[in-house]
Amino acid sequence: MTTQTPGPVDKVIRGGTVVTTEETFQGSIAIDDEKIVAVGSESALPPANETIDATNKIVLPGVVDPHVHTCDSSSIDTYETVTKAAALGGVTTFINFAWEGWEGNGSYHSPDTSLLDGIEYCIEASDEAVVDYSVHGTLATERMETLELIESAVDMGVTSFKMFTAYEFGLSNGYIEQVLEELATLDAVGLVHTEDNDVCNRRTERLKNEEKGESVYYPMSRPDYAEAMAAEDVVRMAKEAGAKYYGVHTTSRKSAEVIDAFRADGSQVRAETCTHYTVYDDSIYDRLGNLPMIAPPIRNKEDREAMFDYIRNGTFDVVSTDHCAYTAESKQTENWWESSFGVNSIQTSFEVFHDVAINEQGLSYPTLVRLMCANPAQTFGLSEKGTLQPGTDADIVVFDPNATRVIDPVNNASKADFSIYEGREVTGCIEKTLVRGELVADNGEIVAGPGFGTFVERDRPDWHN
Ligand SMILES: [Zn+2]
Repeated sequence: MTTQTPGPVDKVIRGGTVVTTEETFQGSIAIDDEKIVAVGSESALPPANETIDATNKIVLPGVVDPHVHTCDSSSIDTYETVTKAAALGGVTTFINFAWEGWEGNGSYHSPDTSLLDGIEYCIEASDEAVVDYSVHGTLATERMETLELIESAVDMGVTSFKMFTAYEFGLSNGYIEQVLEELATLDAVGLVHTEDNDVCNRRTERLKNEEKGESVYYPMSRPDYAEAMAAEDVVRMAKEAGAKYYGVHTTSRKSAEVIDAFRADGSQVRAETCTHYTVYDDSIYDRLGNLPMIAPPIRNKEDREAMFDYIRNGTFDVVSTDHCAYTAESKQTENWWESSFGVNSIQTSFEVFHDVAINEQGLSYPTLVRLMCANPAQTFGLSEKGTLQPGTDADIVVFDPNATRVIDPVNNASKADFSIYEGREVTGCIEKTLVRGELVADNGEIVAGPGFGTFVERDRPDWHN
């Protein structure tokens, strides 16, 4: 993996344990002009203007988080606050959601805002970013003209599109199928939030009528089978259309079984779960009230165990955050249905998942790199990201596996002022985050100026390798 370049390079990260998707080895990394130029033993690398000592540290590709909400009606973060949180959490690239407008209270844009307007808005709003980012085009209406805009979005480097089966911006199966057919012709990816809207709405109404407003009742309003039912509909349509399908925030054994079944025949189906579903079970609602109010809900102990079963058997390719910032105050409501839905986690997710996956569950470092770096990059066409291959962007994390930290939201760079991981001690801490060779976070401090991060145009991903 060593290539020679003449003269001193910008930086060498020396003496760490390098982790790739396949192996861990003692090695050093040479960086020049934003790119990784060589990986190997230090003596074989060119001289450098600057050296970062990674002795006793782990050196891995920057984390790629494909599920982040910011600058929209469901998050109080700006690009500056969310990207600072990302940098502190080892995330060097994330994918946000660029919405079209819709008729309804929740729309961030005027109802006539098109998909392309929504994408352009997101790119313009991002001038204070510290890490790199992309967006998923996000459909909230059944306008037929949107189908014609998808190709232009793909040409802009937006090669994945999010839809919902639930909420006021949920789409019918008939429309979702048409979108999937269009995505199949363009070789783009469909992502769908799958929960059966009717089941969730009727159960919510019933709990309201019964005045069951305590947080512990919340999971009953959006049951695991409602998630699996909608997943089955959408995966089946994606398969018939020949479209690539990515199941977002899979929470339960029942919906993981659906994904697993459709993968078995070689269909183009991939899926993620999120850190919180691997860490917590539904007893969290008794302990933390509305703070962990998210959809789909955190499930029972058995489902939490299932997340690791399906990570181990390869059904889940990715572990993401679903970061969405709110204040604690917006959660302090009398009834759970009045609470905001969403939790911030991009700053803490890697450290928390590392602690659970490596230290408790015994997964390997290459598995961790696949789940949080390489697979999300490859799945969404980020060919320069999530890898330490020479020639790609020098997005790198230096991680101290022995350091410990107690998570305290006082350190949040996000505008969100709480953490569902508050008080948790993790072993293994992010020490340095480099984006395109530039140190952006160093021992808990942001050291890059706003505006360093840039919008990344994505390729149409190839899911055959
Ligand atoms: Zn989400």
